[in-house]
Amino acid sequence: MKFATRLVNYDASPGDLNRPMATPIYQTSTFEQEKADSFGAYDYSRSGNPTRRVLEDQMAALENGVRGFAFSSGMAAVTTAARLLRAGDEILADWDLYGGACRLFSKVLDRAGITVRYADAADPAAFAQQVRSNTRLVYIESPTNPLLRVIDLKAIAAIAHQRRALFCVDNSTMSPYLQNPLDLGADIVLHSATKFLSGHSDVTGGIIVVKDEALAEEIYFLQNAEGSALGPFDCFLVVRGLKTLKLRMQAQQENAEKLASYLQAHSLVRQVYYPGLAGAHGYELQKSQARGAGAVLSFTTGSFGLSRRIAENAQLFRISVSFGSVHSTISLPGSMSHASVPAEIQATRALPADLVRISVGIEDEEDLREDLSRAIDLSFKAEKDELVGRGLSSQ
Ligand code: PLP
Repeated sequence: MKFATRLVNYDASPGDLNRPMATPIYQTSTFEQEKADSFGAYDYSRSGNPTRRVLEDQMAALENGVRGFAFSSGMAAVTTAARLLRAGDEILADWDLYGGACRLFSKVLDRAGITVRYADAADPAAFAQQVRSNTRLVYIESPTNPLLRVIDLKAIAAIAHQRRALFCVDNSTMSPYLQNPLDLGADIVLHSATKFLSGHSDVTGGIIVVKDEALAEEIYFLQNAEGSALGPFDCFLVVRGLKTLKLRMQAQQENAEKLASYLQAHSLVRQVYYPGLAGAHGYELQKSQARGAGAVLSFTTGSFGLSRRIAENAQLFRISVSFGSVHSTISLPGSMSHASVPAEIQATRALPADLVRISVGIEDEEDLREDLSRAIDLSFKAEKDELVGRGLSSQ
C-alpha cells in the first residue's frame, strides 16, 4: 500500500467486534482482570491502553520500525531517549537543535552525570573527529530547526555506529510522509507529535519509533517506569490528525515552496533558509534522503527591529512558538523557541538575532504572500521613520 492509503487503511480498533471506523477513546485507567494472576492484554493505562496502542502501531508502521511509543510531549520522548544513557556517558549533538532539547541536555542531564557536547553534523568529517569513547548517543534534527541545515543521515549513522553509539533523529520538521530516518540508518526516530503529526495545534505529544526489538523493550520499560505515556484522548487526536497528514503536508509544502521563492526575490530579505530552493545549502542532499523540504523556513532581514516588526505586523501568520499546524505561524527563534538555550551555548551558535521562522499552513497562498508583503512593507517604513526621527538616517 502507498502512503496515503496506509494513513487511513488500518485496524482502528483491533479486536473490537463492533468494527468502529474511528478509534474509540478508552478513557479508563484500569482494566478488570479475569484472574488474580493473569493480566490480559491490558491491566493499567500507564502500562498500555488500546487507544494508545493504535497510535503507537500506526507510527511504527509509518516510520518502518518495529515498535512505536507515544509520550506526553515531544520533550518526554527526548527525555526517554536520553534515559538510555548512564552516568559517564555522553551525548554528541548537532549545534542547531530545538531550544528545549538543549536545555534538557545541558541543564538537567548533568544532574545524572551525563555530559553533552555540540558539533557541526552538517560537516560529517569534522563531526567524526568529535566522537569519543563514551559517546553513547548521537542526536540530530534534519533539516535542523531553525536554520534548516540538512544533515547527511547515512553518513552520521555510519559515524555513530563505528563507535557503537545510538543514532537518534528528531524528524519533527519532516514527518514520516517526507522522511524515514530509520531507513537511512537511525536507531531511534523521534517526533514532537504536537507539530505535523497532529497538525491542528490542539494536542501536545511525542513519539519514538525504533527498529530493534531489544531497544524497543528498553524504551517500553522507561515509558512504563516513568509514567510518561500520552493519555487516551490525546492519542485519539493524534490518530485522527494522522489521517490527513499527506494532504496537509502536500498543501503546506506547496505553499512554503512558493513563499520561499517570493522571499528570496524580495529586495528587503537578506537570506532565505529553505532546502527546497534550488541552489540552497543542502538542496541536493535533501532531495536524496527526503521526499520534499517541508513547510518550515526561515529568513533574515539584517535587523532585529525589522524582523520583530514583521512578526508583529503579519496578521495571517500568527506569532507562535510552535510549527506544523494548518495555521501559518511566525516566530523569532532567538527570543522565542530557542531562548531556553543556555547562554554559554547560545554564544557558540551561529543563530542570527534577526532570524524569522515561518511555518506555512494550508491557507490560500496568495493571501499568505499578501500578508507577508504587507507586513514587510509596513515594517520597513516604520523602521525607516524611526531612524529618521532619531537622526540616524536622512531619508
Ligand atoms: N523537537 C522539535 C524539533 C521541536 O521543535 C520541539 C518543540 O517545539 C520539540 C522537539 C519538543 O516537543 P514538545 O513541545 O511537544 O514537547
